[in-house]
Amino acid sequence: MMGPSHALSGAAVWLAGSYGLAQIAHYHQTPLELAVGTAMCAGGALLPDLDLSGRVVTDQGGATVAHTFGVFSLFIAEVVEKASLGIYDLTRTRRDPHLHNGHRTFTHTLPFNIGVGIGVFELCLHFGKWAVLPVLFVTFAMALRGLFENWAKRAGWVIVTLTALAATAFAFARLDGGRGYPMLGVALGVGGIVHLFGDMLTSHGCPILWPIPTGRRMWRCIGVPDAIATKVGGRVEVFVWRTVFVLIALVAAVGLFAPQLLHRYALAW
Ligand SMILES: [Zn+2]
Repeated sequence: MMGPSHALSGAAVWLAGSYGLAQIAHYHQTPLELAVGTAMCAGGALLPDLDLSGRVVTDQGGATVAHTFGVFSLFIAEVVEKASLGIYDLTRTRRDPHLHNGHRTFTHTLPFNIGVGIGVFELCLHFGKWAVLPVLFVTFAMALRGLFENWAKRAGWVIVTLTALAATAFAFARLDGGRGYPMLGVALGVGGIVHLFGDMLTSHGCPILWPIPTGRRMWRCIGVPDAIATKVGGRVEVFVWRTVFVLIALVAAVGLFAPQLLHRYALAW
């Protein structure tokens, strides 16, 4: 799947999950917590594609996420792709094919994405402000890239970066340190896992079982059968899946916010 679809699916899952938690476990979040969590999950859902490298010098190629900070993030994507290929080569069996590119390998595994979630959770818990600020900033920038693709392309990475800085300052000043900080790690981890499921809708799939070997292969890519697979960037992805994600997000958002608004309205009445 492409960046905007991943970002939308992350936002939809976070809002739907928050609605479920509010209904079933009576775990209620403030509008700010919901907005920040949704942005973190949308941004986090782009992270695994940081293994798609482009051309750093000419600022071309790479996934949506690789363009977040212009040539800087393109350079990081280059490093992540090579490192992922290194891990692939080190751990593959003779039955796994030889690859020339590290895309859809290590960053598309559960251990990587759960690791990102736990890592950010712990960093934010122990280092507070000094971890929360960079996490908010980087993820807001990724979320802007994914959710507002056309605007971000037109605006360019400098304006996207400035907008992410403003959002970071606004959110940080209001976010509750008690449960708001560790929530960032949870949202990022969930976003990454949502990405894996999104890629599994395509015929290439992703190595969701790694490092559990199946049929003497370590890196078996698992996805839906070719007959019903979604073509990356095709009409089904752009028109059907994105509509589904937007609808889920909207219905969940109405479910979450309508009672609060009605309550306030009723009180004012
Ligand atoms: Zn991917």
